[in-house]
Amino acid sequence: MTRKSENPMIPFEKAFEIVMSRARPLDVETVALEEALHRILAEDVRSDVDMPPFDKSAMDGYACRRADLQQELIVLETIQAGTPPRYAVGPGQCAKIMTGAMLPEGADCVFMVEDAETPREDVVRFTGGNTKDNICFRGEDIRAGDVVLRAGARIGAQHIAVLASAGCARPRVYRRVRVGIIATGDELVEPSERPGPGQIRSSNGPQLFAQTQHADALPTYYGIVRDTEEAIDASLKHALAENDVVLLSGGVSKGDFDFVPGVMQRNDIEILFDAIAMKPGKPTTFGVSATKYCFGLPGNPVSSFIQFEALVKPFLYKLTGHDFLEMQPVLPLAARLNPGRVERATWLPVCVGADGRVRPVKYHGSAHIHALCGADGIIMIPAGSDVLEEGSLVRVRLLR
Ligand code: AMP
Ligand code: MG
Repeated sequence: MTRKSENPMIPFEKAFEIVMSRARPLDVETVALEEALHRILAEDVRSDVDMPPFDKSAMDGYACRRADLQQELIVLETIQAGTPPRYAVGPGQCAKIMTGAMLPEGADCVFMVEDAETPREDVVRFTGGNTKDNICFRGEDIRAGDVVLRAGARIGAQHIAVLASAGCARPRVYRRVRVGIIATGDELVEPSERPGPGQIRSSNGPQLFAQTQHADALPTYYGIVRDTEEAIDASLKHALAENDVVLLSGGVSKGDFDFVPGVMQRNDIEILFDAIAMKPGKPTTFGVSATKYCFGLPGNPVSSFIQFEALVKPFLYKLTGHDFLEMQPVLPLAARLNPGRVERATWLPVCVGADGRVRPVKYHGSAHIHALCGADGIIMIPAGSDVLEEGSLVRVRLLR
């Protein structure tokens, strides 16, 4: 089968825009807090209480009137966390108070036990030179009704703490994206096998599986398929039926056995682009049907790795309403970099030294996946660049 259309090569930014604009958010479910880690919130969450819920002591100490700090004070009671005070504090009086306990009426200051001396039973004296108030005021962190977390937030441990304190025990989150992974190539064998003549082990299957997990989505691996339209078609049908997104590796270039785009079209996938002005990863292909999404990633491992990070990962998050943005520090080059004439935007693996300067690592091209293991990140050299001088600032996309 031949391809129905040839699309023009587009800049990466345009490809990114096309991919992101096609993402329709998935359905929503509720989960227990124990299952909420790394899920994406589907609703704004408001607190149903003030935080703190009452004026409370920040220290173990004595609650009194600041005006009385210089005199001996009668201790009225001991206030434990969880039990309201029984007495108001008047002139010359105080209450012993524990961290987190409710401040008694009349008190405007807590001095620490470490700054206290007890000359007689039920009498205490402040011995410090000065003291802070050591009070956490009701509602100073959050007011009841305030939005504490916004829809689209990726839930980390700190978010779980906020959900818990806001009384949101079963947050509404997007369901996880289901991603099918297919490796195409007659030359491929599984990692457990020893390659014969002309064969190589498939690294893209396990790599894309791991990248998908890392992107908080649910991968399913459909194995290696041979370079025939029938084999790719059968596997793609299977994967499309069971997933939201299908990633195929290999078979998207201009070779005699590169059938992936044609098979996508045969399965009612409209191809929106099939060439990006980017190195590595030029033949990256993206298509959509009414309900499914399909990426054809180039077979070379560095290409599929980088295209996943740059394009697929933000897209998977977008399906769950999350704007994925990674910290990308801008750092100086440690030495002059001469990449030759750069015709397409080019990604290079780099290390960041303890001095905060960026050095390229040894890299032979898009088959050299091993280079990424010694790299801290990748940098993009814009098309049209020639030489980058020492000290030039580059944005480093960190590889976690
Ligand atoms: P292709 O995109 O199918 O033309 O493949 C480009 C290069 O990537 C070839 O050298 C393939 O052998 C290699 N390749 C394809 N698929 C894989 C894979 N799953 N794992 C590792 N290398 C691959
Ligand atoms: Mg191939």
